[in-house]
Amino acid sequence: MTRAISIFGATGSVGLSTLDLVRQHRDAYRVVALTANGNAAGLAELAREFDAELAVVAEDEAYPALKKALAGTRIEAAAGADALVDAAKRDADWTMAAIVGCAGLPPTMAAIEQGRTVALANKEALVSAGDLMMAAVDRSGATLLPVDSEHNAIFQCLAGAKLEQVRKITLTASGGPFREFSLDRMRAVTPAQAVAHPNWDMGAKISVDSATMMNKGLELIEAYHLFPVGLDRLDILVHPQSVIHSMVEYVDCSTLAQLGSPDMRIPIASALAWPERIATNCKPLDLGTIGQLSFEQPDHVRFPALRLARAVVNEGGAKPAILNAANEVAVAAFLASRIGFLDIASLVEETLGGYQPDMPATLDDLFSIDAAARAYASAHINKVAHASA
Ligand code: NAD
Ligand code: MG
Repeated sequence: MTRAISIFGATGSVGLSTLDLVRQHRDAYRVVALTANGNAAGLAELAREFDAELAVVAEDEAYPALKKALAGTRIEAAAGADALVDAAKRDADWTMAAIVGCAGLPPTMAAIEQGRTVALANKEALVSAGDLMMAAVDRSGATLLPVDSEHNAIFQCLAGAKLEQVRKITLTASGGPFREFSLDRMRAVTPAQAVAHPNWDMGAKISVDSATMMNKGLELIEAYHLFPVGLDRLDILVHPQSVIHSMVEYVDCSTLAQLGSPDMRIPIASALAWPERIATNCKPLDLGTIGQLSFEQPDHVRFPALRLARAVVNEGGAKPAILNAANEVAVAAFLASRIGFLDIASLVEETLGGYQPDMPATLDDLFSIDAAARAYASAHINKVAHASA
């Protein structure tokens, strides 16, 4: 039986890793829709290789190039935000949500509302829409398969166990490229240094998030929704080798961990084949060569994003969406060399303190909150940059 799959964010790091696995198991999968932001040529090449039914670019301006690149094939071409949502509604057995940022929320929610099996890499969508997304999952009967390596590890360690028998869930963190940097050294780091992650090869945004440890903060919020054991049972532990991807401790003091080489194709394969397993050509774990695994407590002073993320979960309402939106603006400003590395957390904190919107009751409320937070953060970029200069 072939599984019909769609991949949102097909041209990105997670999207390409997913397609690499499909390439290794061509007979098991049929590709329905592939999407990208503006990279029409890259998307068309993938759509041709995998004989997709449909290719969608989010940017309207990229449509002519996509159409031209698909000329002479039977592959449909489409563009724009509505086309992305329509693609998510198209029948598929399995949907990969791998767009980066809150931009992935509309198609991810559309797939969930159809009751689909959704492999979720797009953590920003869940962080932002948390309660609304989980309510939609309950309503539609959709299955969410976590792709983030930590959450995929937890999902595997839980293996259907009762959450009330869980004492603690520990998310591991590599600590990123600046784990041992002083605040003074961090102040001067460049975008190129921040995107060079020691263990994982990832897109630029998540690489910067790993460097600030906002990635772990977002993952804490992600875990809070996916595995509702309560915030006080969610822990973060720095583990620089990125071999243990997370752990679940049960009430009997038994702790289960999932281990593997730091290669996203491993958690993606677990979601792609779920509930079965498929072979991958990833590097098997060789603990004898690795020799030692080490652990340390995270430092909330050098990595204030951890403190901010925990606080927004406690405050609830619109706060996680504001944190996420402000962080997206701050990371883009840092990558464009408009603010310094330490200004990222400052801009997020400034935006969180800026105003108090009501609890989002609908997705439209959430989009308004997201837009307002982006506008606020954008308007305060200079203030934050001057304060630290
Ligand atoms: P990436 O930047 O490499 O790729 C992002 C994809 O989304 C691309 O296909 C791009 O064309 C598309 N995209 C970007 N902006 C868009 C927009 N506005 N509208 C529609 N499409 C858009 O990112 P990535 O590293 O693959 O990460 C994707 C998601 O997976 C992120 O949420 C990230 O946090 C999460 N994630 C990634 C990794 C990893 O190893 N890369 C690990 C865990 C979780
Ligand atoms: Mg992760």
